[in-house]
Amino acid sequence: MPGATDLVVTSAERRSPALVRVRFRTDDLSAFADSVFTDRYVKLVIPTDDGEVVRTYTALEPDLDARTLAIDFVVHGDEGVAGPWAATAAPGDLLTVRGPGGAYTPDPDADWHLLAGDESAIPAIGAAIEALPAGATAYVLIEVSSPDHQVDLPVRDGVEVTWLHRGASSHAVGDEGAGLEAPLVGAVRDLPWREGRVQAFVHGEAAAVMHGIRPYLLKERGLPRADVSISGYWRRGRTEEAFRAWKSELAAAETAR
Ligand SMILES: Cc1cc2nc3c(=O)[nH]c(=O)nc-3n(C[C@H](O)[C@H](O)[C@H](O)COP(=O)(O)OP(=O)(O)OC[C@H]3O[C@@H](n4cnc5c(N)ncnc54)[C@H](O)[C@@H]3O)c2cc1C
Repeated sequence: MPGATDLVVTSAERRSPALVRVRFRTDDLSAFADSVFTDRYVKLVIPTDDGEVVRTYTALEPDLDARTLAIDFVVHGDEGVAGPWAATAAPGDLLTVRGPGGAYTPDPDADWHLLAGDESAIPAIGAAIEALPAGATAYVLIEVSSPDHQVDLPVRDGVEVTWLHRGASSHAVGDEGAGLEAPLVGAVRDLPWREGRVQAFVHGEAAAVMHGIRPYLLKERGLPRADVSISGYWRRGRTEEAFRAWKSELAAAETAR
């Protein structure tokens, strides 16, 4: 991943009660020059009282000439570092960024697209909708806690957006078992399946995505792995550091099978 660059906050505004759009300026955005992915992500180095932590976020609207970009942060309570940082971000605040990485962009040859996720994937899903070819058929399923957490997304002919509401209670941090019952899991399974080749982009809480949705797409529907971008973006009850360990354990268990 390309080297570190300083970011300066220029503005911060709420897109919803739990989503803050922070805009940044930087002296050097050249690392984004060859970035072709809509899920382009960066590693943010965030200062803390004890040092710093690294957190992963989707970079939006990189403008090489203006040297600006934006990031939408989920504000998920007092836990963690990045969420609380974003909740109080103000012009002049500083971060360091490394990246971007990325792996997905809508395939113009797909017959239809499935874009699914929770709040953490709203930025990447919005960028994917913007990049869909004119006239593409896409079903977008997004889980948020309640209707007032819905946000405006790009509007395109052929793109049908459905919002799922989980209610406040299932946001309880530390509930390791939650996820499989997430409304997103049921909504993906209930989606009427169309003929033709589907390309899927599915990201969000890891248990819901990796245990609830991935087996359905890969095994039950038999989608080729190359047509499915799927991973957890965060794990309920775990910090990003502990979540990385969870991902390694999952990968090791799957290799051993
Ligand atoms: C490729 C990629 C792209 C991502 N893009 C984005 C993005 O654009 N915007 C975004 O907001 N997130 C995004 N994420 C998710 C983000 O990296 C995690 O949510 C991260 O854990 C947040 O760090 P934190 O310091 O706020 O919380 P942490 O210190 O990591 O965790 C503290 C506690 O908060 C909980 N928690 C963490 N995230 C959430 C959440 N979203 N909702 C509810 N509880 C949570 C954890 O389970 C834990 O209990 C992305 C992740 C990946 C891998």
